[in-house]
Amino acid sequence: MKFFDAGSAYHFMERLVKEIGNRESGTDSERRAAQQIKAWFEEFELANVRMEEFEVQTSRILKEEVSLPDGTQLECAAVGNSLSTPPQGIEGEVVMLESTSSGALKNIENKIAALSVVLYEKDFCKVMKAGPQALIYPSRTPLAPTIYRSIRAEYVEKQNIPAVSMAHDDVLSVLKGPKRLKIITEVQSVTAKSQNVLGEVPGSLEDEDILVGGHYDTVRSVMGAHDNAAGTAVMLELARIFAHEKLNRKLRIVAFGSEELGLRGSFHHAENPDNTKNLTLCFDFDVHGILLGTLNAVVLGPEELRSLLRFTAKELGIPLQVTNELGMGGSDHMPLAFYGVPSVMLSRAGGAAQIMHTELEDLRWCGSDAFISIGKLSQTLLERLLRAEELPFEKKVPNDITKAIEKRFEDSGIKKKAKEGVE
Ligand SMILES: [Zn+2]
Repeated sequence: MKFFDAGSAYHFMERLVKEIGNRESGTDSERRAAQQIKAWFEEFELANVRMEEFEVQTSRILKEEVSLPDGTQLECAAVGNSLSTPPQGIEGEVVMLESTSSGALKNIENKIAALSVVLYEKDFCKVMKAGPQALIYPSRTPLAPTIYRSIRAEYVEKQNIPAVSMAHDDVLSVLKGPKRLKIITEVQSVTAKSQNVLGEVPGSLEDEDILVGGHYDTVRSVMGAHDNAAGTAVMLELARIFAHEKLNRKLRIVAFGSEELGLRGSFHHAENPDNTKNLTLCFDFDVHGILLGTLNAVVLGPEELRSLLRFTAKELGIPLQVTNELGMGGSDHMPLAFYGVPSVMLSRAGGAAQIMHTELEDLRWCGSDAFISIGKLSQTLLERLLRAEELPFEKKVPNDITKAIEKRFEDSGIKKKAKEGVE
C-alpha cells in the first residue's frame, strides 16, 4: 500500500492554482480544471473515468463601479445574479442595516443599505420588500478585501435588486464620511454547463460503495487555493494511493463542479437514486492546505460514525474537532446526507479562512505540512472502512440532522428535488 504523501498533495494544489488558476463555476476555466482532473484520474488508472454534465444558472459581470460624490472610485464586485442598475447608475444615501426587524427595515426605503447582518436568502426577500435602492455586502473583517459572492439565480427570478460587495474598511469610511455613493452595475444572466469528474477503484461487494469527493470550482476572480484546490488535492492523492488496491468496497472518487453556485454538482449527483442506492458513506474535503490551522469534522450520520472519527483521530494523535452541527455555509456533504448517505465533511480551519473568496486566497497561506494530519487520518479511515468485513455503522442519517439540512437549504434559497416517497 502506498502512503499519503503530503508533498504530492501540495503539488496537485499548486498545479491547479498555478496552471489553471481561477475556476469559476460554469466557465471554460472550470471546464479546463475538470479536464486536468480527468487526465490525472486516467494517469492513476482509476476505473470508469467519466464526466457527469449538468446545467447551471449563473451570470457574467459586465460592469461594476462604485464611486464617492467627489468621483473617487472604490473597489467593488457586483454580486452574481443581482439586478443591473440603470445605465446611468444609482446614487443615494448609504445607511447601515443591522437587523431585519421591521423597525430597522423602515429606515432603508430608497436608500443604499450596507449590511452589517449576515443575510440568508430568505432574509434577502424581506429586505427587498423594504424598498432600498441597492445593497452593499461589506467583507466581514477589517483589512479584508472585497469578497466575491452571488445570490442563487433561482431565488431572484421574481424579485431582484442591484447589489455589490465592498471591502469592510471602504464601507466604514463611507458611513463615517460622505454617507453617499454612486453604483453602476451590469449583470447578464446565463445558462452554462458544468460537470463532475468521476473515477472508481473496484471492490468485491456490490452495494456498499464509499465516496471521496471535493469541489474544484471557485468563485469569480480568485485562485481558490484552500477553497478548494487543496481539498481537491487531498481527493487526488487518495485516488493515487488507492488506485491499485484490492478492496472489499468500491471507492468512488468525485470532483464536484459548481459548489459555489449552491452545491450544484453534489445535488446533481445525489438527486440521482442510481448514485445513492449503493452508497454507504461520503467523505467531503472542503478547505484545506492552510498551514496555521487545525482539523474539523462535521458528521451528518449515525453516532457510531462520529465515535469512529473521534477514536481514529485520538489513536493517531491528531487533534480533531468533531461535531454534527452544520456550522456556517455549506458544502457537498449536505446534499449527500439529505438523500440518505451518511456524510463527513473534513476541513482545516485557520486565520487564513478569513480571506476566503477574496483575491488574497492564493498559495501564500498554504504549506505541504498542512496535508500531513489529513493524509494520515483519511488514509487510515479509508483503509479500514474499504477493507472491513462489516461496516461499524448503519446507513442512516438521523431525522434531526435531515431536518436541519432541509432548513438550511430553505434559508439559503437552494432548490432541490423532492425525495422519493416524501412530500
Ligand atoms: Zn469550498
